Amino acid sequence: MCYAQNEKDFVDLENKFLDLGCPSLTEYYEKNWRPISNEWVKCFKAKSGDFLNSTNNRLESFNSKLKSLLGHRSSLNEFVRGFFTVLSAIRSERDKAAADEFLKSKTLVPENTTVAAIRSHLTSYAADFVCQELAAVSKTVVRNSTNTSCDCCFHQSMRLPCRHIFLTRSLAGLSIYD
Ligand SMILES: [Zn+2]
Repeated sequence: MCYAQNEKDFVDLENKFLDLGCPSLTEYYEKNWRPISNEWVKCFKAKSGDFLNSTNNRLESFNSKLKSLLGHRSSLNEFVRGFFTVLSAIRSERDKAAADEFLKSKTLVPENTTVAAIRSHLTSYAADFVCQELAAVSKTVVRNSTNTSCDCCFHQSMRLPCRHIFLTRSLAGLSIYD
């Protein structure tokens, strides 16, 4: 159920689970887990635009940096000072990465005009995802998508054009990316 790609798959799996016929388990599930399914089911999490992030790695990374700065017996004052020091350093790193994205010129020449358009409009991080989707168009099938939106996890989560949108646009005779 956690990895359901769409609502129909989730409902099918949930029905199988409920058909197990264990009243206490069903009650526990319906009281504690069903109301927060948007927090643990892949297709529902994607709708909130989670950028395909399903781990707490960023939080763990922050915690690790904080622990390297502070000792085990730090006072509250030392903790707060250390917290804001680490936060400031992380924000500086983020700002530098963002500045590099705009200030550094790209030396790679894209192989075609679509890739060139994608790379000129998006950050390199986002463009890598979109180029992967573009490369997968030949391996995909028509889905219930329009020229600008799709219900797949990738599009819902990243808010970027997916392989299904590219395929729909291609079949409609539109330019793949504009
Ligand atoms: Zn899609």
